[in-house]
Amino acid sequence: MPATNLQLDTADVGQSICELAARLFPLHRSLTGEGNRETLHCLAESLPLEVHAVATGESVLDWRVPQEWRIRDAFIADAAGNRIVDYRQSNLHVVNGSVGVQATLPWSELRSHLHSLPKQPDAIPYRTDFFQSGWGFCLPHRLVEQLENAPQATYQVCIDAEYFDGELNYGEIALPGSCPEQVVLYAHLCHPSLANDNLAGICLAAHLAQWLRSTPRRYSYRIVFAPATLGAITWLARNEQAVSQIRHGLVLTLLGCQSPFTYKRSRRMHAAIDRIVARCLAAYPDSEIRPFTPIGYDERQFCSPGFNLPFGCLMRSGPGEFPEYHTSHDNLATLKSEVLAESFALCKQVLEAIEAERIYVRKDAKGEPCLGRYGIYRALGERDDRGRFQEAMMWLLNLADGEHSLVDMAEQSQLPLSLFEDVAETLTAHGLVESRHELQRR
Ligand code: ZN
Repeated sequence: MPATNLQLDTADVGQSICELAARLFPLHRSLTGEGNRETLHCLAESLPLEVHAVATGESVLDWRVPQEWRIRDAFIADAAGNRIVDYRQSNLHVVNGSVGVQATLPWSELRSHLHSLPKQPDAIPYRTDFFQSGWGFCLPHRLVEQLENAPQATYQVCIDAEYFDGELNYGEIALPGSCPEQVVLYAHLCHPSLANDNLAGICLAAHLAQWLRSTPRRYSYRIVFAPATLGAITWLARNEQAVSQIRHGLVLTLLGCQSPFTYKRSRRMHAAIDRIVARCLAAYPDSEIRPFTPIGYDERQFCSPGFNLPFGCLMRSGPGEFPEYHTSHDNLATLKSEVLAESFALCKQVLEAIEAERIYVRKDAKGEPCLGRYGIYRALGERDDRGRFQEAMMWLLNLADGEHSLVDMAEQSQLPLSLFEDVAETLTAHGLVESRHELQRR
């Protein structure tokens, strides 16, 4: 299959994210295994992504890298050999991480291994068991009822799967900037054929990586794709020395369905990333900002004591808050290209704000400067937002005292952060202010 061409034009980016998701959708991702490697290799066709392998048994923080899981086939067949439930139709039919089984079982025994959703009778649920504790099948409740109403004497059950000493994989794109301080974007990699929960984050992060490659960068960026929980723990264990360089981090997930933006703050609650995202979301009146909780995605690991990194989680809705969550209904139809384009634009805006975030110092004398002398009004030209631009300019000139950054100014004035980025550029170009790294406050 040809490499996916990642399109970044505003009109095409949503469609391009959907196309990449469609390509990755059938791959059987899990905590470990071939589906994860195939996913990473697919991303590596268009991006400078390095695939890392960590051997079974290696200790990572309080854990050990588990054995690798491999599955070839799975089915439930009737006495005549007809497949009633077939893994080849959907990889969600098998409990992800099931141990292997070959057996002929009566209905009563088989029933205890079946998972379904009575309230969503047409959906196949997504279930996992990564502890080698058993096996199971997931199927629409309607089918369970059919079988229950007229059970056969026995059923043939096969899960051709095994655990063995192998590896856990994660992928990372490292994009050096002009300073060693880092921004990390993270997407979890472990869900099989589910679209909004997993693929939206992966495919959006891939497109952001592509955009970051094409733009000058102050920060160094790391875009990480790893299985949830143990993947994040493994990445942290292997990067323990380097994490002190992380200034901002974002977990990206659930960004493809039509729900308002939802941001979960870092454990620090008011880290720069929290404040920047909050300012960018001010333009989306129905967006929601939530406090940190130790329940959710991999921000749990990044924000754990001992690391306490400035990582927030950007979503649309939260986990479990949309009806398709963790079911076969979270398929490619849940992904809307215009929604993904909007999510991409917001993430880009956040990254632009991170890059622009600096403190400012006035270069001229005290008092308000005589702006006419600097040609500022000519520079305003025909801007539609001339009034607001001038207002932001007065704020910036007043707060350019070596103690305030652009986010401080946007918070105090309630004017858009992106406007301050423009104003700062204009005032710098006209010699009125100069910038310093935001960590060098007076
Ligand atoms: Zn999930």
